[in-house]
Amino acid sequence: MLKGKTALITGSTSGIGKAIATRLAAEGCNIVLNGFGDSGEIDALKRSLAAEHSVMVGYSSADLTRVPAIENMMSYVQSEFGGADILVNNAGMQHVSPVEDFPVDKWNLIIALNLSAAFHTIRLGLPGMKEKGWGRIIQTASAHALVASPYKAAYVAAKHGIAGLTKTVALEGATHGVRCNAICPGYVHTPLVDAQITDTAKARGISEDEVVKNVILAAQPTKEFVTAEQIGDMAAFLCSPAADQINGALLPIDGGWTAQ
Ligand code: NAD
Repeated sequence: MLKGKTALITGSTSGIGKAIATRLAAEGCNIVLNGFGDSGEIDALKRSLAAEHSVMVGYSSADLTRVPAIENMMSYVQSEFGGADILVNNAGMQHVSPVEDFPVDKWNLIIALNLSAAFHTIRLGLPGMKEKGWGRIIQTASAHALVASPYKAAYVAAKHGIAGLTKTVALEGATHGVRCNAICPGYVHTPLVDAQITDTAKARGISEDEVVKNVILAAQPTKEFVTAEQIGDMAAFLCSPAADQINGALLPIDGGWTAQ
């Protein structure tokens, strides 16, 4: 379905981003990975995606909290792949702390990575999409783009910001064949959530098992985690012709969390 197209997926060396990259590769899309991690593991991921799906796979190690690094990554995608037809702004981080104690450096980092990086990739990537008359921008937002939880001030602020950016870009791209949507997952069991379980246990003074049962899955009426593969399937759907008229949408995939 996506043969000949290129997708840049930020934060795709782990968790949800890796699942989205894998799913889009299965659609025949060339893939540019980004994110941190063990270089041997990243090489192995590149090789396995390329071999299994007969696609080209590139990688950028850009630290997306740094604007020049984002600019270099976008230049690399342009020169090696002719630009990104599909841009998935997925890289993100979390920090859990009461607002009055929230470390200022963590606030700045989370706003830079979870919100500003998406502005920079979009401002640099959108002109190429407009020129081609086709583009898909997908943000991995969160249920926290729609509702809040205590102790997550920076994350919730950044994800609500992503919701506004998504709607604005959707309007600007609408007559140019570009669509911009946000997937809003509930809890997915990834390394990001593992760290959060540990931090929440400390912040609330309870055990990690209690955090999973009484905090995390308490928010999700199905009492089940969303899977990263389900997010990958949703991203592939948003790139399909069936989704051509979905634009500026914030799409929950959260087991009913935000229905409450
Ligand atoms: P993860 O920790 O498994 O993966 C995060 C990815 O981002 C990794 O590839 C990491 O290397 C990369 N990354 C981190 N800092 C970076 C930086 N400065 N520059 C470039 N890359 C960087 O996390 P995940 O759970 O897969 O989260 C992916 C996205 O999904 C995030 O935006 C997160 O907010 C969102 N999300 C996650 C959940 C969940 O429950 N896991 C729920 C809703 C939304």
